[in-house]
Amino acid sequence: MSFQSLQIVKPILKALEEEGYTTPTPIQAQAIPIVLQGTDLLGCAQTGTGKTAAFAIPILQILGAAPHTPNKKRKIRSLIVTPTRELAIQILESFRAYGRHTGLNFTVVFGGVNQNPQTSALRAGVDILIATPGRLLDLMQQGFVSLQDIEIFVLDEADRMLDMGFINDVKKIIARLPQKRQSLFFSATMPPEITKLAGTILHNPSRVSVTPVSSTVEIIEQFVFYVEKGNKNALLVELLRDKKIKTALVFTRTKHGADKVVRMLHQHRIPAAAIHGNKSQNIRQRALSEFKAQRTRVLVATDIAARGIDIEDLEYVINYDIPNISETYVHRIGRTGRAGAGGTAFSFCDAEETAFLKDIEKLIGKKIKVIENHPYRMQFTGATLPKNLPRSKRSSGKSRNSPVTGGRISHYRSPLKASW
Ligand code: AMP
Repeated sequence: MSFQSLQIVKPILKALEEEGYTTPTPIQAQAIPIVLQGTDLLGCAQTGTGKTAAFAIPILQILGAAPHTPNKKRKIRSLIVTPTRELAIQILESFRAYGRHTGLNFTVVFGGVNQNPQTSALRAGVDILIATPGRLLDLMQQGFVSLQDIEIFVLDEADRMLDMGFINDVKKIIARLPQKRQSLFFSATMPPEITKLAGTILHNPSRVSVTPVSSTVEIIEQFVFYVEKGNKNALLVELLRDKKIKTALVFTRTKHGADKVVRMLHQHRIPAAAIHGNKSQNIRQRALSEFKAQRTRVLVATDIAARGIDIEDLEYVINYDIPNISETYVHRIGRTGRAGAGGTAFSFCDAEETAFLKDIEKLIGKKIKVIENHPYRMQFTGATLPKNLPRSKRSSGKSRNSPVTGGRISHYRSPLKASW
């Protein structure tokens, strides 16, 4: 299967080639022909499957076929609503990349920043608008955005909208869309409320579903370290001595926890930054681009802030805390292993988190490999011994090579003077 065989027009094919895309991902192969036909779509797919291109490519093709009249102000013909600022920016970047030879233009609006640059862009006229719900409604109320010319509407990550409490905002936006339009609806999961919402937006939709949440992680190597809570910092520093880990995305449960880990890493001269909801949008963006450029080695994030973060070549995800919701684990480690590439996920599990880990293993349908050969391993009593920890073959832990990647750990000197 190739993009040519999906009847994609030359200017977009050229851009895809420049992006290095050769083969459509399963969601693209299924969704693109449906959208090009003008049919509504209900897509069950999560970030990492290539779903952005699955809607961006056909939208660009449809709108590009009827370009705007020169000297006339552009009208918003397609609206993409997505829950987070990070996702909105990434969707914009995708439209820019795939649409660079189409002559269409795009802009993004989201909250937490001054609205003036956004209103200037809107005043100048845009074909495709990407927005988070709150700021969009704000700008609609102020008269900067009219939805009356929307031909194609996309609701992205609908289940996350529900989780984040945006569902009423979404409903208000939908009420302002023209009746005659094409609608595309994406959600990773389909709880009843989401199915109901989809029913109010879509007309005779075609359904497309790709790899359920638990199976997208199969290509990611997963390891768990059993460790006392108080030793997690030391273990993290230890793990990062392995130079094979060029960059790593570290997850913590709380914003405060993220800041603490960053401060601790700075004390060990490891370049690190945190992204979470308390940071301004500019600081978050800067942290993300420094990380993408590999100038910041470790990005510490909370779940909401990291949602949808798309970093090419992200090889390592570290769960400093084990999430109590198993799906969150899958979303976290899905930051690596994008579009079929491999990746590695490490999880630090303390005594209180072993039950969460059990739930995760149930969801993903497999046991996560236990790394025993590390200097901070938890001393289990019979009662806390997890089932997946082999009792035999406990290593003496004298190795100077990483127990995980096999990479040589250079200049080893334990920060806590632990011996292993
Ligand atoms: P998404 O699920 O839209 O967040 O996409 C996940 C990642 O896959 C992004 O980094 C895209 O650039 C990449 N991607 C999407 N489609 C393709 C493709 N057909 N070939 C290679 N990479 C792709």
